[in-house]
Amino acid sequence: MVSHCANPKCAKPLHYLREGRIFVFDVAAGEADRNGKRSRRMDHYWLCGVCSQTMEMQQSEDGVRVVARARSRVQEIAIVPSAMAS
Ligand SMILES: [Zn+2]
Repeated sequence: MVSHCANPKCAKPLHYLREGRIFVFDVAAGEADRNGKRSRRMDHYWLCGVCSQTMEMQQSEDGVRVVARARSRVQEIAIVPSAMAS
């Protein structure tokens, strides 16, 4: 189970689950069995409150990594309903 913030530069210990954000990824685990099926497991990651405001977890071919959030608060505020003017 998760014990620290997934951001390696932070690694804050997890005390309260209500703080921050939990990410769950369905990942292939281990070698394929004789039927060609790989066993799967659910991986859990936690970002602390501070990190989850600017970062999120993403699954890629290389595994799960911490990335900057695509939508920042600044961009959300910048949305102006200019189309309404016409
Ligand atoms: Zn953190």
